[in-house]
Amino acid sequence: MTKLNFAIIGLLALAVACGQGPQQPAATPVTPTPEEPTKPEETEVWTPAPNKVDPFGQNGAPSDAIVLFDGSNLDRWISAADSTAAQWNINTDGSMTVANGTGDIQTKDNFGSVQLHVEWRSSPENTASGQAKSNSGVYLQNRYEVQVLDNNDNPTYVNGMVGSLYKQSPPLVMASVPTGSWNAYDILYHAPEFDAQGGMVVAPKITVLQNGVLIQDHFELQGTTEYIGWPKVSAHGPGPIKLQDHNDHSGVSYRNIWVRPLN
Ligand code: MG
Repeated sequence: MTKLNFAIIGLLALAVACGQGPQQPAATPVTPTPEEPTKPEETEVWTPAPNKVDPFGQNGAPSDAIVLFDGSNLDRWISAADSTAAQWNINTDGSMTVANGTGDIQTKDNFGSVQLHVEWRSSPENTASGQAKSNSGVYLQNRYEVQVLDNNDNPTYVNGMVGSLYKQSPPLVMASVPTGSWNAYDILYHAPEFDAQGGMVVAPKITVLQNGVLIQDHFELQGTTEYIGWPKVSAHGPGPIKLQDHNDHSGVSYRNIWVRPLN
């Protein structure tokens, strides 16, 4: 063995002695297993206590809700087209009716995720068919429509029928009351989230109960609810709640509208 071989063997021995050999995987920390509670108090949580809400605090609306329409005025609404005063008609029974051709109306305030209550009534005078029979709609953040339509003895494409998320999701069931009676929509809406490039990283999700019956179950929207074309994705922040004037003498009326922001 040459002097050079002795030198190499010596260096290898020194490297091993100094701990420079192959790396060992780091030890996994052991999470201590909590002991099984033996008393009921050990699994009780007392704080923070939820706020108290009167569920019928404001003419039937929860005490912590923002009342968007109580039958007396349209102070919280504006024209969607030009932000002037909303022109829909207020009726003596505490409802309002689409004033045909005056355009959509929307809330002055913007909202993100919400619980929304809306009551609506189709018009017995409207004897049209298909999409022309008492067509209106409730839009979340100004771009996602929950369809309002009179489908009593009036079939249409199911992803555009009453209770659909327009052109994206038919309702699970058709839960409308007879023409001219009041329907209630209770909507749980979770707003989407976008990354810095405008890509949608969390889709908007909608749950809808019509007259207490589940018709949309946490549906993830793919984007806007378009009349023509595929859903569109465009980054946005909070937006108004909008009611549709379908511009065909729909005669749809609304009443008792309130919202509870969820964030
Ligand atoms: Mg509509």
